[in-house]
Amino acid sequence: MPKFVYDFTEGNKDLKDLLGGKGANLAEMTNLGLPVPPGFTITTEACRHYLEHGNLPEGLADEVNAHLAALESAMGKKLGQSDDPLLVSVRSGAKFSMPGMMETVLNVGLNDESVHGLAAQAGDERFAWDSYRRLIQMFGKTVLDIDGDPFEDAIEEAKRARGSDQDADLVADDFKRLVERFKAIVREQAGRDFPSDPREQMDLAVKAVFDSWNADRAILYRRQERIPVDLGTAVNICSMVFGNLGLDSGTGVAFTRDPASGQQGVYGDYLQNAQGEDVVAGIRNTVPLKELERIDKASYDRLLEIMETLENHYRDMCDIEFTIERGKLWMLQTRVGKRTAAAAFRIACQLLDQGLIDMDEAARRVTGDQLAQLMFPRFASRVDGVQKLTKGMNASPGAAVGKAVFTSARAVEFAERGEDVILVRRETNPDDLAGMVAAKGVLTSRGGKTSHAAVVARGMGKTCVCGAEELDVDVRNGHFTAPGGVTVGEGDVISIDGSSGDVYLGEVPVEDSPVVRYFEGELTPEDGGDLVKAVDRIMKHADARAALKVRANSDNPEDSARARRFGAAGIGLCRTEHMFLGDRRQLIEKLVLAEDGAERQAALDALEPLQRSDFEGIFEAMDGLPVTIRLIDPPLHEFLPDITELSVRVALAGDGADATDRRLLEAVNRLHEQNPMLGLRGVRLGLVIPGLFAMQVRAIAEAAAARRRAGGDPRPEIMIPLVGAVQELEAVRDEARGILASVGEATGVDVPALIGTMIELPRAALTAGQIAEAAEFFSFGTNDLTQTTWGFSRDDVEAAFFSRYLELGIFGVSPFETLDREGVGRLVRIAAEEGRRARPGIKLGICGEHGGDPDSVHFCHEVGLDYVSCSPFRIPVARLEAGRAAI
Ligand code: ADP
Ligand code: MG
Ligand code: MG
Repeated sequence: MPKFVYDFTEGNKDLKDLLGGKGANLAEMTNLGLPVPPGFTITTEACRHYLEHGNLPEGLADEVNAHLAALESAMGKKLGQSDDPLLVSVRSGAKFSMPGMMETVLNVGLNDESVHGLAAQAGDERFAWDSYRRLIQMFGKTVLDIDGDPFEDAIEEAKRARGSDQDADLVADDFKRLVERFKAIVREQAGRDFPSDPREQMDLAVKAVFDSWNADRAILYRRQERIPVDLGTAVNICSMVFGNLGLDSGTGVAFTRDPASGQQGVYGDYLQNAQGEDVVAGIRNTVPLKELERIDKASYDRLLEIMETLENHYRDMCDIEFTIERGKLWMLQTRVGKRTAAAAFRIACQLLDQGLIDMDEAARRVTGDQLAQLMFPRFASRVDGVQKLTKGMNASPGAAVGKAVFTSARAVEFAERGEDVILVRRETNPDDLAGMVAAKGVLTSRGGKTSHAAVVARGMGKTCVCGAEELDVDVRNGHFTAPGGVTVGEGDVISIDGSSGDVYLGEVPVEDSPVVRYFEGELTPEDGGDLVKAVDRIMKHADARAALKVRANSDNPEDSARARRFGAAGIGLCRTEHMFLGDRRQLIEKLVLAEDGAERQAALDALEPLQRSDFEGIFEAMDGLPVTIRLIDPPLHEFLPDITELSVRVALAGDGADATDRRLLEAVNRLHEQNPMLGLRGVRLGLVIPGLFAMQVRAIAEAAAARRRAGGDPRPEIMIPLVGAVQELEAVRDEARGILASVGEATGVDVPALIGTMIELPRAALTAGQIAEAAEFFSFGTNDLTQTTWGFSRDDVEAAFFSRYLELGIFGVSPFETLDREGVGRLVRIAAEEGRRARPGIKLGICGEHGGDPDSVHFCHEVGLDYVSCSPFRIPVARLEAGRAAI
């Protein structure tokens, strides 16, 4: 039988799967000799059993009994013992930290008898009754699922009766009365009494933590963060220490470095005479951690010493929760801290310079997603004519502009209409998650950098300004007031700067990030500051390590030139149909309407010089690098007017209808397809419409010849789309070879061009061995391959039912975003293997959207492709991930 319970002395930081992050790190700190209140952890395996079968696994109760008995004897008191009670917290803790997502109950073990014992032991009646009412309140909310408002209202009432708005003014008798009131609330709302048996309290709390794994907001957070649905949570039973025992007690959170900038120093918040969640919830105003030095120098020094120990031990920035009980410091939690993207790059290089990690590890410590965040535009540095309202804390960087909204629901409503919003709250709590996801940015008037809003926004890479205390936020009436009496209501546009904390009325213009300017070559690492320097160091290492090359998807000279500046090793996908838009649409119309060979040839002849000059520009921008040009792919009716519009126009004009319109309508009707994605497109066009592909190949060859004559080094690769059978490819290839040869003869310049194919149909993947006989390269078109493998029409399914599929856990992320390794990926593997077997050394690449997706890049590396191709702006991300994949 598996072991379901681990004492804090038994675990370690590498057991996160089993003990959750919190449990594993509590064990690690215990074994480092740090002051952690004793306790034990119930494993995620027990949780998974419970969630699956609806009952606790056999043997768990015995193990809990044994560990509780050991804890009691170590502490010299029993759980809830009436004269001197052992109290515990029951804390959730999953493998991945989910801030505020899961429930924790403090002060378990208090009841009508033991509250007196606690009061006597502490010599503090008020403290004991305050702790007891907290237990009933937390237990009611999290275990018995009671709405929190009645409890809050009762506290407000008690304060009113005292003529105060501060908890601190309440006395022991007030809390005694609150305990009675709270018990009545439990009875009314839950239809049962608050359990007075300490062990029953503990067992019910354990089950509630298990159940909270499936709370709505936990599910939403996991989806957002791509955390698997079936991990389950561990439960930590931890003996209580008290930060609410007077002014020599308190509780706080700290970071070993600034999580927003990476700067070393003392960062955190401290709250005197408070317990647990008072800090994180941002309900009361904390003081900066530095103040603790004045309040309690001994504890402060000890804390800094522990922070250094932790940072050297974890070789990374850590965040911690601690409590001081009457001058004695206790560590309640640590983990490798969440940080902003900029801090991640800076910290990696700082640790590198400190000799704590090596270059490979530094590259492991940052991600492509973080790099992408650093490439977002930010507010222009000089802002004229916009009114600055106030400055809050720079909790999560970025520049966000949108209409102010004051509730999560309104944020979602506005966003669904396609409007950008900034969610404005006094403080956020887990119920605001949907609104935070929908908003461009989050602004709060209360709470520090460790408040819920700050932590969650940083995790989501969302711009956040918190603790803007000068703002008076009135959520009920939907407005806030800034200094000077400016009132901002729902729908008014504001701009928030998560890097500086500035809040503006109106729309502030945004400008390129320095990281982008560095990639553009406009900013050297020396001039760019420590962030740009860190990015430069890590990118250079990634490039040196990468096995995969990164190419660009680009179909014009400007994008190609930018792609090259961003480090592209060529073009992996030039979509020729993009060259047929705008004015040129008419030429395609002529082609479609042609009634005989001569008319058709005339249309093609008009298109050819245009294509040729497009290609020349691209070859010039990518001189010396491969340029893969895909022959026209989409169905031709995409270039024709909309069928409904045209029908209406012809019908309205009646007999007087334009002759061309009438012929167009005929053509549109003729070409209309039920299922265009699977219709006349790709290689099929080349085989059915005479001269179309030939015109494109000639334009490519002539452009290459012209570049050669001009002293350039063009490297064209001609790519045939939507091939399902080698015979299709052979026919097109033979024609193309003929044209290349004839252009060579006519121009006197030999232009070598590879001819290859896309692999984007399951049949192509499954017969890749045959296709490779006729193809000099494969490029996996994973958008179409995903559509055809799943039978999903991308344009239809995403809006129709993907959110339901994600909810049901059918997939954790859309297969159009991240390559589906098991299905689509299997086809890629088969094709790569069989293609190589038939033609050793065949060039293999991928050109779907997946080429810029970090996880998919890692997959391409594993399969041993030669390159990925993605949009120019994603190239640095793909380069970084290509390097990280090779480490
Ligand atoms: P979360 O995962 O939401 O941070 P925690 O389990 O860490 O939840 O607990 C919530 C709060 O209660 C934290 O501030 C934590 O420090 C405090 N807390 C938890 N256990 C204890 C304990 N045994 N003694 C004192 N405070 C505790
Ligand atoms: Mg915590
Ligand atoms: Mg395709």
